[in-house]
Amino acid sequence: CGIVGYAGPQAAAPSTRPVDVALQGLARLEYRGYDSAGVAVLDDDTVRVTKRAGKLANLREALENDTETTGRVAIAHTRWATHGGPTDVNAHPHHGGREGELAVVHNGIIENFATLRAELEGQGYTFTSETDSEAAAHLIAHEMESAGDLTEAMRRTASRLEGAFTLLAVHRDAPDTVVAARRNSPLVVGLGEGENFLGSDVAAFVDSTKEALEIGQDQIVTVSSDAVRIIDVEGHEVTDAKRYTIEWDAAA
Ligand code: GLU
Repeated sequence: CGIVGYAGPQAAAPSTRPVDVALQGLARLEYRGYDSAGVAVLDDDTVRVTKRAGKLANLREALENDTETTGRVAIAHTRWATHGGPTDVNAHPHHGGREGELAVVHNGIIENFATLRAELEGQGYTFTSETDSEAAAHLIAHEMESAGDLTEAMRRTASRLEGAFTLLAVHRDAPDTVVAARRNSPLVVGLGEGENFLGSDVAAFVDSTKEALEIGQDQIVTVSSDAVRIIDVEGHEVTDAKRYTIEWDAAA
């Protein structure tokens, strides 16, 4: 139901800032309602996922005694279940790939998930949840195996998905990077100084920056701490994304 993405400074020493930014963003998105919450942090070659059914407090508690989860890049999610009950396992992020080399968060509904799931299971991918979203996770991982590039893997995946999605992915072979795509579901980039953000709405990052970039229908955006690159689903560069300054009532 709500999504946050963060790519932090490359020069910084390992810190917990991605987790802090993620939790702060999720708290801002709480007003939308949700049944579970989770965060994935990309730390060198490990994608660490922590997720809990129930309130954000449960996730916060799970992360409190977690000294392992450090890194520069994070994706986070509050879920409003459509496929599969509100359990820890069905909560996002979802791992994808043969070794859990990737994690995704997804808002929306993937209409053709059953077909994709059967196809991916046939190729040896193991599903652990009842969600439609996990099909997207394994599909991106699968496309990554042949494309070798996360943006291209996301582009190929977006062209195969039917329905509505705001989809964010981090992959151990795409260091310091979050890749996102959208169709019939909102996605905004927040432009920081030496750090960049993604959100299902600007509330996700408004505490950190007021500079935003609108992502259009069927576009794919690749975000690192110092760069934002947008392409369309055919692979053409998008250079006319609308940039604006968020008007935000501080009392809100
Ligand atoms: N369809 C997905 C699920 O049920 C995502 C729901 C959402 O938008 O939070 O897990």
